[in-house]
Amino acid sequence: MGNQGEIELIKSPIQGFIADLHHRYQHLQDGVVANYIPELAKVNPKLFSIAIATVNGDVYAVGDVDHLFTIQSISKVFVYGQALADRGRDYMLTRVGVEPTGDAFNSIILDEQSKRPHNPMVNAGAIATTSLIKGNDPTERLNRLLDMYRRYIGHDVFVDISVFTSERSTGHRNRAMAHLMLNFGMIDAQIEPVLDLYFQQCAVMVNCRDLAVMAATLANKGVNPLTQETAVDSGCIKDILSVMYTCGMYNFAGEWAYKVGIPAKSGVSGGIIAVVPGQMGIAVFSPPLDSRGNSVRGVKVCEELSQEFGLHLFDCSSRFWDKLGMIAAPTFRNGN
Ligand code: GLU
Repeated sequence: MGNQGEIELIKSPIQGFIADLHHRYQHLQDGVVANYIPELAKVNPKLFSIAIATVNGDVYAVGDVDHLFTIQSISKVFVYGQALADRGRDYMLTRVGVEPTGDAFNSIILDEQSKRPHNPMVNAGAIATTSLIKGNDPTERLNRLLDMYRRYIGHDVFVDISVFTSERSTGHRNRAMAHLMLNFGMIDAQIEPVLDLYFQQCAVMVNCRDLAVMAATLANKGVNPLTQETAVDSGCIKDILSVMYTCGMYNFAGEWAYKVGIPAKSGVSGGIIAVVPGQMGIAVFSPPLDSRGNSVRGVKVCEELSQEFGLHLFDCSSRFWDKLGMIAAPTFRNGN
């Protein structure tokens, strides 16, 4: 385990279980590191970390938890939340749908009738969402997103310039999508500043523990459980988690919902976040991806965690808290 930073890591059955998971899966060699953004291809495929943050503010972590990587598509969750807060749900629904596609994250497809992108978790929908972030100029919009990340994580973040420029100079497919949406009036801003902001939001550096705290903030009604700062209005949480649940894992979302059963989002740099509403945030980082673009070790770890602690939303036992010898924290499920 790396430097523990300002967060105290605590010993518990959870810590023991994730240490065991890390030990068992660190030798798994399957998957391929994303290489369509040239800068991402340079990553060490052996990097591997798991972190869990509870709504009580406890953090458990193992592996390369301090290693920084770009957040990539996981950003879509948080930027969607900001756009919901900025524009309201009804307006957002006129611009971006909430239907899973079953297609790859980068497919250039809009809804036949409405011309909206299908949902905010695929690239087209995420770019449309980014175009709706309020601000007077590009700097203000970027600063608003950086401040949003700070509230979720509890410290300042920065954009990795080399990944940002790498993606900006090779992101022709994303550029094509933006033009298509401009054509249909789904984007009314200028394309290049929107794409820049989208590439910047994807190139923000985080570590696995940061992601767990961000996920725990969603689990905790939008309040960061470490700093108690509100990151997003609690009224947006249900909408955010719903699209994560149905659309967050690329074209594996249905199988994920069936097997793991909790809202999640993955990104091409190898991160996955998962949210157990009212209980905890989970994050895994391991760069090699499967054919759908999800971290191979990340999927395995989340499947096992869900199984072991009964995390599936439709599993009515409370094994997680039983194992901790605690009564369940107030949850959305019991209406608190
Ligand atoms: N910035 C990446 C893109 O738009 C994000 C992709 C991802 O993580 O799925 O291609």
